Amino acid sequence: MEIKEWLQSHREEMIGDVMELTAIESVSRPGEGGFPFGSGCRKVLHRALVLVERYGLEAENLEDYCGSAVLKGKSGREIGFFSHLDVVPEGKGWEKTKPYEPIIENGWIYGRGSADNKGPAVAVLYALRYLKESGISLKHTLRQFYGCDEERGMKDAEYYLQHRKPPVFSLVPDCAFPVCIGEKGKLRIVCEGKLSDKVFLLRGGDGENSVPEKAEIVLDGLHEEELEELKGSCPHFIRIGEENEKIKVETFGRAAHAAQPEDGESAVVLLARFICDCGLLEESDCETFRFLWEAFPDAYGKGLGVECEDELSGRLTAVGSSLQLKDGGVRLCIDIRCPVTADLQEVEVKARQVVEGYGWRICELVQNPGYYRRDGGDCRSDVGRAVSRLTDICQEVYGRTFAPYCMGGGTYARKLPNAFGYGPGLSFQKKPCPPGHGKGHQPDECVYVENLLYAAEIYVKAILMLDEMLE
Ligand SMILES: [Zn+2]
Repeated sequence: MEIKEWLQSHREEMIGDVMELTAIESVSRPGEGGFPFGSGCRKVLHRALVLVERYGLEAENLEDYCGSAVLKGKSGREIGFFSHLDVVPEGKGWEKTKPYEPIIENGWIYGRGSADNKGPAVAVLYALRYLKESGISLKHTLRQFYGCDEERGMKDAEYYLQHRKPPVFSLVPDCAFPVCIGEKGKLRIVCEGKLSDKVFLLRGGDGENSVPEKAEIVLDGLHEEELEELKGSCPHFIRIGEENEKIKVETFGRAAHAAQPEDGESAVVLLARFICDCGLLEESDCETFRFLWEAFPDAYGKGLGVECEDELSGRLTAVGSSLQLKDGGVRLCIDIRCPVTADLQEVEVKARQVVEGYGWRICELVQNPGYYRRDGGDCRSDVGRAVSRLTDICQEVYGRTFAPYCMGGGTYARKLPNAFGYGPGLSFQKKPCPPGHGKGHQPDECVYVENLLYAAEIYVKAILMLDEMLE
């Protein structure tokens, strides 16, 4: 049967599989329950491997760190697909459904992980299943990797690479079509500022790679009149109230992936600015808070002195992502993504100076280099040819023009040799949701079933092309 027809006849089954995996809460929590990334990740991995076996593929489980679906070819040389089954925390503001109670509406499946990355993982699985059921024989062995720690630290892929050889060529279905040939380098800075004992609670954001959607602070020193006055004057995104005879201030921004901060608005910055302006803070605390809004007037690193951009990957982005009270001080995590041609080291030195200049102490600093495959754009190299043919396949299936690109998101591609991001999202497609909703890492995350069907078709064609073209 032709792939298109086969996919249409398996549409409902595919939707069922995506919903089944999306219903499992699988945030990576190392060590929880005695499992490498916690019981939720173990559960989703086991459930996926049940599907793998049901569809006649070989299932492998690497000690619950990660697993694979394998379709043996004539040689042991592998073509890989790297998917992940862990998700980011559910966050707030879900309207369509509860994060782990997936629903389908007008062809869109809603639920945490539906788009990032469980739906795409199922699309790849169906591509493999189709090849298996059609009895098409391949030179290469196909491997679909299922990771359980992509969103937190990619320790799953590291574990895999410590124990197994990577495929000769890999695709990572965790971005947009056509082909991603570069990812920005990442800099993660955790820093601490001093606070007085007047601050009882401080919290903002719940993921390290998201623009915080909500922030809150609880302060000592409640004066009823002052409070009433403040309440009267504050804008709609701020809520002021009392809690156990203390003042509680909450701010509401808009969540977004830290790689696309232009979609979001930081509740932490809103909180810091408001709380400094309204005179509720001690002088010394105000100094500490000043950093939180002065260093992040926009999401492009201006306040940190690290603004830069290149034509390939766009502007540097910098987000103060999660904020919490820690040992009497305040701890902030900063997520910086540098253009592919920028020098990560240089950015680190500059940012460090600014952070420390505000009197904050740096407690952790991790460089996570991106990648840029120069030969991806060179049609004389094998890799370049593969990239251009992978792009052609997208054009053929979608009937429109595509061009390879670089991005701010980080995927397994940076951990692997000869690896490229490959779909299944579409940069031109609008989600049927208000701003701040619908994308990966946002509330009401959703995926379009039709896209998954197209993706599975593209993956089948890509496998056949690569199998012939690669050694
Ligand atoms: Zn992802």
